[in-house]
Amino acid sequence: MAQKAGSPRGTPHGEGRRDDWPGKLSPAEVEELLRRLAEANPEPKSELYWTNPYTLLVAVVLSAQSTDKGVNKVTKELFRLADTPRKMLALGEERLREIIRSIGLYPTKAKNIIGLSKILLEKYGGEVPRSREALEELPGVGRKTANVVLNVAFGEPTIAVDTHIFRVANRTGLAPGRTPLEVEKNLMKVVPEKYRLHVHHWLILHGRYVCKARKPECERCIICDLCKWEEKRCAERT
Ligand code: SF4
Repeated sequence: MAQKAGSPRGTPHGEGRRDDWPGKLSPAEVEELLRRLAEANPEPKSELYWTNPYTLLVAVVLSAQSTDKGVNKVTKELFRLADTPRKMLALGEERLREIIRSIGLYPTKAKNIIGLSKILLEKYGGEVPRSREALEELPGVGRKTANVVLNVAFGEPTIAVDTHIFRVANRTGLAPGRTPLEVEKNLMKVVPEKYRLHVHHWLILHGRYVCKARKPECERCIICDLCKWEEKRCAERT
C-alpha cells in the first residue's frame, strides 16, 4: 500500500523522512513563500527575554526542551541579580537552582550555566565569543544554541533548526531533511541571502502559532497555496 504523504511512518505530524514527501518547492515558490513571511513580519524578534549576549546565551541554554514563556518567567528575576558571568558566579549554583527550579532539567542547566560562566570569565574576559567553535565548547551549548546566539546577538545569518523549523521545512517542502542538521544545510542552500538573517524567526513563529504540530491552522496560513503538505486544508477562495 502506498505511503500517505504527510503521515510518514511513525511520525504522524509531519516530522518525517524526506523521501516520504511529495515534492520540494521550486526556487520561485521559495522566493514567494519567504517574500510573504517577510512582508507579514519585516523585523521578527526572539520571544526570549535578554539584555546582552550573555543573558541571551543563558536564556537559550534554559530554553532547551522548555517554552520561551516558562523561561521568561524566571529570567526577569535572574537577570536582575546576575547579567554577567561574574555576577552569576557570585550568585552561586545553589541560588541559581532555586530561581530556575520551575524549568525542566534545571539541575543540569544550573550546572552548565555556572560552568560556562567560569569559562567565559577565564578565557574570554567575561564576553561571549562570536565564534561557533568557541560557543560549542561551552557546557550545555550545542549547534542550535550557538546558531541562535550568533543570529540574535551578533546578527549572523545562521539558521538554528528547532522542532518548529524542522516541521515547517518538511511539511511545506521548503527544505526537507531527515535530521535538523540536514534541514539546516538544505535551508542554507535554498534560502536567498537577503532572507537568511530573519528566516530562522519567520519559520519558528510560523510553526509555533500557525503550522502547529497537531493542529496546523492551514485555513489562516498565508503560504497555504504554496505548501506541499498533502494533508493541508486551505481556506476556500471566494
Ligand atoms: S498550509 Fe500552512 S499551516 Fe498548513 S501545513 Fe502547510 S505551512 Fe503548515
